[in-house]
Amino acid sequence: MEQTVKGMSLDRSTDLKKYNLYINGEWVEPAGHEYFPSYNPATGEAWCEVAKGTAEDVDKAVQAAHHAFLHSDWASMTFTERGRLVYRLGELIAENIEELARYESIDNGKLIREMRGQLRYLPEFFYYYAGLADKIHGHTLPIDKQDMFTFTSREPLGVVAAITPWNSPLYLTTLKLAPALTAGNTIVIKPSEMTSASLLELVKLVEKAGFPPGVVNVVTGFGMPAGNTLTAHPLVRKVAFTGGAESARHVVRNTAENFAQLSLELGGKSPNIIFEDADLDNAVMGIIAGIFGASGQSCVAGSRALLHADIYDQVIEKLIDRISRIRIGDPLHDDSEMGPLATPAQLKRVEEFVSLGLAEGGKILYGGKRPEHLQNGWYFEPTIFEYADQTSRLTQEEIFGPVLSVIPFRDEAEAIALANDTEYALAAGIWTSNVAKAHRVAKEVRAGIVWVNTYRSISPMAPIGGSGLSGYGREGGCEAIYEYTQSKTVWINLSQESMPDPFIMR
Ligand code: NAD
Repeated sequence: MEQTVKGMSLDRSTDLKKYNLYINGEWVEPAGHEYFPSYNPATGEAWCEVAKGTAEDVDKAVQAAHHAFLHSDWASMTFTERGRLVYRLGELIAENIEELARYESIDNGKLIREMRGQLRYLPEFFYYYAGLADKIHGHTLPIDKQDMFTFTSREPLGVVAAITPWNSPLYLTTLKLAPALTAGNTIVIKPSEMTSASLLELVKLVEKAGFPPGVVNVVTGFGMPAGNTLTAHPLVRKVAFTGGAESARHVVRNTAENFAQLSLELGGKSPNIIFEDADLDNAVMGIIAGIFGASGQSCVAGSRALLHADIYDQVIEKLIDRISRIRIGDPLHDDSEMGPLATPAQLKRVEEFVSLGLAEGGKILYGGKRPEHLQNGWYFEPTIFEYADQTSRLTQEEIFGPVLSVIPFRDEAEAIALANDTEYALAAGIWTSNVAKAHRVAKEVRAGIVWVNTYRSISPMAPIGGSGLSGYGREGGCEAIYEYTQSKTVWINLSQESMPDPFIMR
């Protein structure tokens, strides 16, 4: 069976495309000479092979990044010059959207049209940060000492390690890459072992943009040993991690060893709260976008719909009416509305949660199985579970699939209590036509991002991140620059008098 990625023939049965590591500006074989297959979720077949990075490869990449940070042209460039390179990378991405979107879609199963949309927006992140490059400044301090001139400046940290998951590989890498480079750091990226290809294609554009060797490095491979060695490396000064809580705990321990800075973008169990005064058609679209967009494989998935009792039946009816018409199918087809899950493990996880939900007493209102006409890929129907309360595991744990729990509430206080009844605190949706209520609830809901009468909106200007089991630190917006720089305070004594004897107290 043959598949084409813009002019390139990928004959899976014979000759899989092979990707090497990208270290110090060169494409190199992994030290262990081993490669592993990457699979197309729509067919379940291998379509390329990716280098299995070892601890030795990670060390080489970090050493290259460290050298580039201290001694390359990158180190002596002005912030404006660095900003120009970041801008150029954005332009090159804009010129290659179709190709990159197809790689993402083939590798992670997300809809080609969703990936096109996401990638068309990606250059904006590079342009935004490029514009900030020469505006990263400190302050002159009105210091309370005579004859002292004291100021702060912001400096890059050094080598950044970026670890990314499989669900939106290039978008989630960009949230780290663009601000890290803008701030003058160098970077080693370890993408998910499930979806490395699109990043390796993007790195070709990094080369083309003219970044000096060693500034951007990619070591593909698994959490163990590649991710683990990278996050434990003593020359890494900052780790930006996006993924699950279990891996994050290892990363926290690793960075603690070297006191490297850390930001964690983890999962969620985000509520979409629909009040009785909401525009219900809009709210239903918001719920569907929140949980069935990307087949639910989104950290901000609105996996709990909290519905006011007065409009409960109406919303359920509208939801089922629309999701029963969702066209599930090949993500490369423009008319597909929902694609497969990215891995067989993810499909198994969703199936296990559905069995668990039934065992826990949840009632399936829609879906709950693989679609009959799509048994080859890793597809699953949009699924709705009804619950009277939030005590079950299905309503508390992140599933990362197209499974929505619906729970009724009677008043604002109960809605807030239900929304906050989770260890996660990443995102929340509020649907109401009452402005005062929107503000009140937005303030009370525990989440790093709150959307009112919208869901899953993103922008380079808007920070994202959470607390609790959802991690810490923020990506996006000007704030991200602070995550990739540190402040230096400089004291200059302007006095012409000699230094006083330190043992004579003033
Ligand atoms: P994962 O934790 O299994 O893997 C994430 C990355 O960590 C991969 O690159 C993996 O190789 C690496 N890794 C695994 N073990 C490691 C270790 N010991 N040391 C260092 N690196 C290690 O997560 P996943 O299954 O790829 O992604 C799904 C998770 O990501 C979900 O929980 C989801 O909510 C979360 N996520 C969060 C955001 C966000 O912005 N908050 C965005 C997307 C996904």
